[in-house]
Amino acid sequence: MTIKDKEERNYYYRNYYQKNKERYLGYIKKYHNSEKGKIREKEYLKEYMKRPEVVRRNKERWKIRESTPLRKIYRLNYMRKRRKDIKFRRKEYLYRRNKKDSNKNILEKERELNRNYYQKNKIKKRVYKLKWKYKNMNKVKSEKLAQRLIKIPKGKLCEICNINKAVHRHHEDYSQPLHVMFLCSTCHGKQHRKI
Ligand SMILES: [Zn+2]
Ligand SMILES: [Zn+2]
Repeated sequence: MTIKDKEERNYYYRNYYQKNKERYLGYIKKYHNSEKGKIREKEYLKEYMKRPEVVRRNKERWKIRESTPLRKIYRLNYMRKRRKDIKFRRKEYLYRRNKKDSNKNILEKERELNRNYYQKNKIKKRVYKLKWKYKNMNKVKSEKLAQRLIKIPKGKLCEICNINKAVHRHHEDYSQPLHVMFLCSTCHGKQHRKI
């Protein structure tokens, strides 16, 4: 069969279908609405979904769908359409409120646990802090001096990344308390982890 023949055949079928569309659709509707059709469809679907080939194929499909970012875009578009309905918006609001309440309960439980832990180990912590201060007297003294004597200028950007605001003072040498770098918090953390 050449391409022209195929096109002609398709054109013929399309015309034939469009002429007799209503008759066909009527047959199909009748069959689906009859009890015979309903029972047969259900049985066929049950059998079909249990086939090992179909199960495997569906699993693979779901894996691919969940991993692709396209899935997210489809979902977002779907939600945008649905959000115009008032009923759906109401449902969403209730779902979010319930979630918030559950989160609050979890947070309160965590706070209680932390409070109990703190009160048990209050004295231990204070002793540990004092010991650390005594060992690192250099650090503490130079940090306090810098905090008193050096102000961070207004609108100063971080000296490493030049993007975020400078919030911290960083000492490279603790023996020179007035030599200080102005850094943002993330860069400061990185600088200390290097050494
Ligand atoms: Zn920075
Ligand atoms: Zn530092």
